[in-house]
Amino acid sequence: MSAAALARAPAPGCTDAPVLRERGQREVFCGLTGIIWLHRKIQDAFFLVVGSRTCAHLMQSAAGVMIFAEPRFATAIMEERDLAGMTDANEELDRVVAQLLARRPDIRLLFLVGSCPSEVIKLDLSRAAQRLNATHAPGVRVLNYSGSGIETTFTQGEDACLAALVPEMRADPAPGLLVVGALAEVVEDQMRRQFEALDIGPVAFLPPRRAADLPGIGRGTRFLLAQPFLAETARLLEDRGARRLAAPFPLGAEGTTAWLRAAAEAWGVPAARFREVTAAGEQRARTAIARHRALLAGRRISFFPDSQLEIPLARFLARELDMRPVEIGTPYLHRAHLAEELALLPAGAMLSEGRDVDCQLDRCRAARPDLVVCGLGLANPLEAEGFTTKWSIELVFTPIQGYDQAGDLAGLFARPLDRRTRLMV
Ligand code: SF4
Repeated sequence: MSAAALARAPAPGCTDAPVLRERGQREVFCGLTGIIWLHRKIQDAFFLVVGSRTCAHLMQSAAGVMIFAEPRFATAIMEERDLAGMTDANEELDRVVAQLLARRPDIRLLFLVGSCPSEVIKLDLSRAAQRLNATHAPGVRVLNYSGSGIETTFTQGEDACLAALVPEMRADPAPGLLVVGALAEVVEDQMRRQFEALDIGPVAFLPPRRAADLPGIGRGTRFLLAQPFLAETARLLEDRGARRLAAPFPLGAEGTTAWLRAAAEAWGVPAARFREVTAAGEQRARTAIARHRALLAGRRISFFPDSQLEIPLARFLARELDMRPVEIGTPYLHRAHLAEELALLPAGAMLSEGRDVDCQLDRCRAARPDLVVCGLGLANPLEAEGFTTKWSIELVFTPIQGYDQAGDLAGLFARPLDRRTRLMV
């Protein structure tokens, strides 16, 4: 059945589907990893993790070869002396920041990023940020947020970072559209062109590419979430008078159209005009997706909880590629933000929220899906057991939103199955 036919069918979806809630052993990145894509996005920002050697090693391994490209992030490593309270951690931090800013005069926005160790010793980074602002204003703005594993999981680090930016946005009651969530620049440019063609605007993006371009916000602001993991940021934007436009996320042809349509409806764009602007892009996406259907249709897929992208991805794969989701694990399920996704998700998939990795592995072994989407730590062991896996981290680093990325998105899931087939011949 085509996606269009499915959209018309009175499918019950997963709106009221029961959700298995689990707490237990976790197997996931902490929020510090968000820095890896955020530092590339905000080009004059620097992320200073206040943490231990563990945090520095995590950043090094997660960033891979990027660490050789003079990245705009680093770890201020707290030594044992700091942890034992023998030195004043605040003085130490001030010294490190002064050194850093002297060496990198291009920095306009400095994030102090909290970690488990800084939280355990109760180092107050918000006070530190205030103090450093007084010293380094107006050239540099210093903000703080927590990326610690105690408080944040993987993509929640982006939520915490964007939430720290919201109070910095100037009040502006004028109407405008805000797209919230870090997107690859190529995707952002495509979306900007689509909104322009639809006469929707002015359009701004959060996070901006440069600190000085932080958009205004107020009662006239309507915002579209580009990512499903931005609960706190959305709450703060709403507190400042902005209104969220409810929509599925812009993954796949159908998701992108529905996402653009939410803005078009808010701006009163006539339906015929909307079709005129979006038809070609949607068709391009459907053609690109179709190339992967032979390999993916009918295949059973399970998601381990990781990025909160699992539900929108499962919806895309089920509706546009006829895959069969077996279990869709998500670290957190924000019912309001995912309402449109859940309604589109075919009934029958099992939804689970939170983690208990051993129980999830047992269920996965019993169900034996054709493809397992999971973190790097589980992928190779599962491959050794004969499963085909897809590393979920790639889905966060790769541009996957919008019409022109829809084929690549399908390709990310087709590739591991293709490779397995080739190796078996
Ligand atoms: S913030 Fe916590 S979980 Fe993350 S690397 Fe540092 S110690 Fe580990």
